[in-house]
Amino acid sequence: TTSVSDISRKQSAELFEKAKQYFPGGVNSPVRAFKSVYGTPLFIERGDQAHLWDADGNEFIDFCCSWGPLILGHNNAEIREAVQEQLGKGLSFGAPTKLENDLAELILTHNKKIEKIRFVSSGTEAVMSAIRLARGYTKRDKIVKFEGCYHGHSDSLLVKAGSGLVTFGETSSAGVPKAFADETIVIALNDKQALEQVFVDFKDQIAAVIIEGVPANNGLLIQDKDYIHFLRDITKANGALMIFDEVITGFRLGFEGAAKYYDIQPDILTYGKIIGGGMPVGAYGASKELMACISPDGSVYQAGTLSGNPVAMAAGIAALSILARPGFYEQLEKTTQAFVDELRAHIAEKGYGVRIFTIGSIFWFAFSNENIQRADQIDPASMENYKKMHRELLNRGVYFGPSGYEVGFISAAHTEADLTKSLAVIKEALDIVFQ
Ligand code: PMP
Repeated sequence: TTSVSDISRKQSAELFEKAKQYFPGGVNSPVRAFKSVYGTPLFIERGDQAHLWDADGNEFIDFCCSWGPLILGHNNAEIREAVQEQLGKGLSFGAPTKLENDLAELILTHNKKIEKIRFVSSGTEAVMSAIRLARGYTKRDKIVKFEGCYHGHSDSLLVKAGSGLVTFGETSSAGVPKAFADETIVIALNDKQALEQVFVDFKDQIAAVIIEGVPANNGLLIQDKDYIHFLRDITKANGALMIFDEVITGFRLGFEGAAKYYDIQPDILTYGKIIGGGMPVGAYGASKELMACISPDGSVYQAGTLSGNPVAMAAGIAALSILARPGFYEQLEKTTQAFVDELRAHIAEKGYGVRIFTIGSIFWFAFSNENIQRADQIDPASMENYKKMHRELLNRGVYFGPSGYEVGFISAAHTEADLTKSLAVIKEALDIVFQ
């Protein structure tokens, strides 16, 4: 196998130069800048089903899927029609609409992990609000998060593990006050002892422990069931809430997300991405008792001009109505499993040092032989291999997220032909990385 020549990025490069005059780093969200992969970022012109076209006319089979929301692919006809219908009636009212009721009803009848919900406009907002709710309810300030989990960019959560054995967090962004970081304790995933210790060290001070349903922002770090149940028990025993951040896993692993997979009842759940069918939506939900703390019923303030935006609600209703059809998730998981199995067989046959982690329709390539369940098990040097693979994939028409720490997604719009072609391309790319 040999490298093919690089695709043209002429238009994208020109657009990027211009974008750099307007935006920091030329982008409106950092990972889009292609800092950890080869070449200039691709400027996307359009998407249809599982396919993307960039400004140079290159076509790709898309496994990034807008970082997860597009479980039905691009330009889904039912979502498009629902959005188009709403467009003629108005874009935003800042007043209640029936659409909000309809989306809530659709969610709450299929998701018994929450009794009430509040719509917001992003995952960041959903988690930020969930943290405030936990603090307001418990009247405690400290929160515990895990190294390797991402929960959006609110101050309390832009905190990384301190050095050595110190459990206090350090800010992971300039501009986050140290006093905020002091309220966030960061510990390693899949480590029961660390959890026990934190509840000894900060007895009666911890409002909540937050974890991603399945950590999927720093590799795919699938936690043991036993550990998640331990986390549930220890939070309950200490009067702390358990927040399950299902921004990626919610409506991806099923309507009840990772909470169902682990057979667990968290106290607060956060959602985003898929819930808006590609429009900006997030949500958080909990029991009626907890949600009664939210304004205007209760004293925890949280609001939003564009919350429950009618166009976004229309997209969400159309998307979730499709996902609610019998067999949807089973089929998608079967497709994903067959895809991953074939790649694993190729990797095993060739003896490559790659491991594919997968759950539901999410997958992640680790250039390692280890069973990775914690952030510190990922070797940063292995990202060079991802960078190489990414270049070969793009040159052959397969689009993965521009970072080796990011997971890939399969959508219901990926056809058998798309997947067959992608399998051949990924195998070739791996052959080149390891030749
Ligand atoms: N929580 C998790 C688990 C996420 O994956 C993300 C985004 N990838 C967020 C929160 C933040 O969501 P958003 O980017 O919509 O603000």
